Amino acid sequence: MTSFDTIVMVDWSGGSDRGPTPKKDAIWAAVNRAGLAEEPVYLRNRQVAEDWLAELFTQERAANRRVLAGFDFPFGYPAGFARALTGSDDPMAVWAWFEARMHDSPKGNNRFELAGAINRSLGQGKGPFWFAPPSVQIEGLPANKTDYANPFAEKRASETRAKGAFSCWQMGGAGAVGGQVFAGLPVLARLRRQFDAAVWPFEPLDRPVAFVEIWPSLTVGAPPEGMIKDAWQVTEVARQISALPPDRLAAVLDVTQPEEGWIFGLGFEQELTAPPLRNDCFALPPGVHWTPVEDALDLLRHRLAPITGIQTAPLGAALGRIAARSVVAGRDNPPLPNTAVDGYGFAGARDAGVYELPLVAGRAAAGDAPAVVPAGHAIRVLTGAALPQGVDTVVLQEDVVRLDGAVRFSGPVKAGANTRKAGEDVTKGQTIIAQGRRLTAADLALLAATGVAEVALRQPLRVGVLSTGDELVEAGAAAQDGQIYDANRPMLLGLLGQFGHVPVDLGRVPDQRETLRSRLDTASRDVDVILTSGGASAGDEDHVSALLQEAGAMALWRIAIKPGRPLALGMWDGVPVFGLPGNPVAAMVCTLVFARPAMGLLAGADWSEPQGFKVPAAFGKRKKAGRREYLRARMRSGQAEVFASEGSGRISGLSWAEGLVELPEPAAEITPGDMVRFIPYSSFGI
Ligand code: AMP
Ligand code: MG
Repeated sequence: MTSFDTIVMVDWSGGSDRGPTPKKDAIWAAVNRAGLAEEPVYLRNRQVAEDWLAELFTQERAANRRVLAGFDFPFGYPAGFARALTGSDDPMAVWAWFEARMHDSPKGNNRFELAGAINRSLGQGKGPFWFAPPSVQIEGLPANKTDYANPFAEKRASETRAKGAFSCWQMGGAGAVGGQVFAGLPVLARLRRQFDAAVWPFEPLDRPVAFVEIWPSLTVGAPPEGMIKDAWQVTEVARQISALPPDRLAAVLDVTQPEEGWIFGLGFEQELTAPPLRNDCFALPPGVHWTPVEDALDLLRHRLAPITGIQTAPLGAALGRIAARSVVAGRDNPPLPNTAVDGYGFAGARDAGVYELPLVAGRAAAGDAPAVVPAGHAIRVLTGAALPQGVDTVVLQEDVVRLDGAVRFSGPVKAGANTRKAGEDVTKGQTIIAQGRRLTAADLALLAATGVAEVALRQPLRVGVLSTGDELVEAGAAAQDGQIYDANRPMLLGLLGQFGHVPVDLGRVPDQRETLRSRLDTASRDVDVILTSGGASAGDEDHVSALLQEAGAMALWRIAIKPGRPLALGMWDGVPVFGLPGNPVAAMVCTLVFARPAMGLLAGADWSEPQGFKVPAAFGKRKKAGRREYLRARMRSGQAEVFASEGSGRISGLSWAEGLVELPEPAAEITPGDMVRFIPYSSFGI
């Protein structure tokens, strides 16, 4: 059983009370429940932290939720220490040893005294523990490593693998962890007993609360500007763990290390951070000369996966963003049976005939608490009002004669007429948003109505746009003969914004390999994806494809499509690069047909196929077999007309068009009135 409902990650501290205002180097905790992150919690000292944890565990257990709690200090010492200290190899004996001897208060504790005592009994006063601040002088505790001897290993097996991890023997100084262990184990020992918690990796995790040892620096980097590092790290680790599917979590937890303990996630760093794209993710099957469009799309669809992180956001910030997980309704809609009309409510059906029912005083309006209506009586009800007790049927006010203190109406009336059942729209727990959906305004209404105020979203995909070519100058600048204005960059940046990504302008570079290389180097540190235009073929000045080829992670996709020259698809320092043709018409078509669905997957969205419509052609055309063709088109009077010229340099046609006509690969002789597939630009999200 390795699935947990609630993840809580704690950044521990061996220091004294840090005061009431949130600060760094204090204790910070982050809760992630069913994938939803809560605000990180500041805990000023260990006593406050212990109470807070006890309360959390009590609450989660009462709600029948399994808790995985992580703490960033070693749960065990290097092999041999447990036996030397306690006479047993069981790390739990070490926990009990410290629990019995640590005296801890918000103002200070006896950790240095204890370390000195251990050194005197196990290491002739020279180790294994070391470090004491100048104000502290303890017999047997070396202040530094000059006269130091350690009868045990300097590090645990896991620490020799985790680059940068500190030794638990160091009792103080920047980054040291020794003091945290002394002060942390007694707290965990008490919580373990109180909640019957299982301790990883020493015990099977088959109980409702489990403790794991974490080291946030293993998988989490620097915080965003203005955020406290400890708060950020625990939030991130909690998110990473909650994002693991149960079988992968089981794999990460599958560790045998009965004495020293282990660091959660060691060996799984990549998987926990972002599963990387493989360098060969754009490779094409060998021997294919012209790849059909469908095959190219199939390859992209199966090779690409989300590369963006996950964050929780309130509904107000969710429009147009991608749901990172599916969302279930938090409440029935409607929550109670209610009336769909203004009228009079009573119980049961009525056959044909005339009825007169006495009215009870008052009325039921939307938002009122349900009243009680005795049998044989009726009550005035207004649209949206919860049905009072004793009411399941409503007649329209237009069908009623109002008498003094009574209503008269004619049957038949069906039981349940003019009412809405509780949950007839949505029932609590029903999936209302699928993972990968880009949220619409209507989705926000659905989420709000069913009591969902926050959603897990994918972080926006940052896409850089770079133009290449000696001939290019910036719009508005003076252009020499032979120079042209860079048209692709504003177009591509605009498309990206409309797709819902974050466009990043990477500027222009001339046809110079080294300049391009350094621009790609800088860009790949800042963005998630790079779109280039120009220089993608295999000619002398095609430096994009040459560089990607040199990086050993490129495929030149010769796709059977018109318009479109080869696409250079590759990886630059782990960042996918789409090398688009320079020609603006081909650049736009290739972006819509290939880059758009590919980037959607990278951003965490579903694979998207543009919705096309069969419409009569207003044009005639003869087409050869082999390539799929896209014509600039628009709908007028119920027919698709196409731009007068198919010239792929005609930017005016792109602007004239309101969509594309897609002609499949086989040869065709189209005459006006034949049905063709029209894909409006709006089907591409633009
Ligand atoms: P290339 O793919 O570099 O051989 O370029 C093909 C054609 O597209 C050439 O006529 C280029 O001048 C033109 N071109 C390349 N980049 C751009 C751009 N950013 N804006 C407008 N035209 C371009
Ligand atoms: Mg060029």
